[in-house]
Amino acid sequence: MYKRSRPGWIVQKMKKEGLVFRKRFGQNYLIDDNALERIMEAIDLKGGEKVLEIGPGLGALTERLLNNDIELYAVEIDRDLGRILERDFNQENFHLIVEDVLKVDPLSFPQPLVIIGNLPYYITSAIIMHFLESSLDISSMVIMMQKEVAQRLTASPGSKDYGVLTVITQIYAEVEKLFDVGRNCFMPTPKVESTVVKLWPGKSASLNEKGLNIIKAAFSQRRKTLNNSLSSAFEKEEVIEALKKADIDPARRAESLSTDEFKTLIRLWP
Ligand code: SAM
Repeated sequence: MYKRSRPGWIVQKMKKEGLVFRKRFGQNYLIDDNALERIMEAIDLKGGEKVLEIGPGLGALTERLLNNDIELYAVEIDRDLGRILERDFNQENFHLIVEDVLKVDPLSFPQPLVIIGNLPYYITSAIIMHFLESSLDISSMVIMMQKEVAQRLTASPGSKDYGVLTVITQIYAEVEKLFDVGRNCFMPTPKVESTVVKLWPGKSASLNEKGLNIIKAAFSQRRKTLNNSLSSAFEKEEVIEALKKADIDPARRAESLSTDEFKTLIRLWP
């Protein structure tokens, strides 16, 4: 029933429309029906939702999404793809914005919003942060990303992947790794493996500039104690007072602190 994930269809369509795979936009199209079905299951649409698809490409996910009773917003950076999507999905509940998603104000979308995307590898974290840092009411995000980025987003304290990106993301959202997707599920075949991750952003989560600086300073010298690494960016007395208030041993390292401990430290920072 669905055609846009068939390699033959993609080849023909690209030839007919005079398209090329644009590496700079991370254009690796999904050609695996099983992966697409599992993504749809992860989004778990009931009908009536407002959904944003980031980077629809040639529409492999779009055609499945539009099989549901939803309002679908899609942001695609590539003008040539935009022209084709606009023409192919000419229906009232499909709203296409041809633009770099990082330049679109998240608050311009209706709320609550479900976000879905098979994201270009080089800007995955920037895109996730763009939405998490806004005050947009997001019900959930199902994002396919490079396996290594997924490992960082879902890492636990003490692991080598646990760092600034993990803590920031986990302060904003509950994060769950869903499943891996192999390289041969894409056309053209990318160099990296992918993973699908689901995020449930908390409604009241926020992080100001100071909070960000505390997290970045804590991880700036991973091998040093918190006392030392934080003192590279803040006054020593301030650091000692903050750690004492948060009941955190100054001899610990940043990688041993849970996200909740970071939250407490940021909240109680003098
Ligand atoms: N969703 C399609 C699929 O799964 O087959 C395409 C996924 S492909 C990995 C990424 C898509 O995102 C491409 O269509 C690309 O043109 C688009 N894209 C890349 N950078 C973008 C940006 N900054 N804003 C919006 N779309 C972008």
